[in-house]
Amino acid sequence: MDVRSVCVFCGSRPGARPEYLEAASLMGTELARRGLTLVYGGASVGLMGAVADAALAAGGKVVGVLPGFLGAKELAHRGLTELHSVDSMHERKALMEKRSDAFIALPGGYGTLDELFEIVTWAQLGLHQKPMGLLDTRGFFQPLLAMARHHAAEGFVPVEQAAPFAVSDSPAALVDRLLAGPTMPTVQKWLKRTRQT
Ligand code: AMP
Repeated sequence: MDVRSVCVFCGSRPGARPEYLEAASLMGTELARRGLTLVYGGASVGLMGAVADAALAAGGKVVGVLPGFLGAKELAHRGLTELHSVDSMHERKALMEKRSDAFIALPGGYGTLDELFEIVTWAQLGLHQKPMGLLDTRGFFQPLLAMARHHAAEGFVPVEQAAPFAVSDSPAALVDRLLAGPTMPTVQKWLKRTRQT
């Protein structure tokens, strides 16, 4: 599948270190430089605002998807190429998935994790084959990768799927990897019952 649009999940806060905002800006610039449309949550604040501002400043297209009830709270970005107002968080995630050919998570909070893992579980179920990546600024995602290995070691995630992401601290290297194809290895999920069940 050709990758023309990339969804970025990231914090609605700026984080505790300036490197996080810098990384979000670099990612926005990199997507625009390559002619890739940025799809994101539509807010003007935190890393979300930084990635959108940078993509727009570099001449890129930016599609925002914001639930109506968050518009005032999260300060909708008013300068986007497209801003879609939806009725629920479920609709938001569904539309972001539909409009995107690949996904990248930047540092963020529970919202970022929720969005990322919904996309991971949909890939695991075979509902999409779109590549997924983590921008690992300052090793931000190493604890999450360790947690995924723990879930696999304890038998709840197939070992082949313990790291279903491309991982890099370089926006350019990460985008290169996503353009190379799917990151989630396919395994049959409910293949056979084990003797214990
Ligand atoms: P956060 O990483 O918590 O700053 O949130 C980043 C994005 O995720 C924002 O667009 C939030 O609106 C969204 N978000 C926050 N909480 C949730 C949630 N419980 N479920 C889905 N998305 C959320």
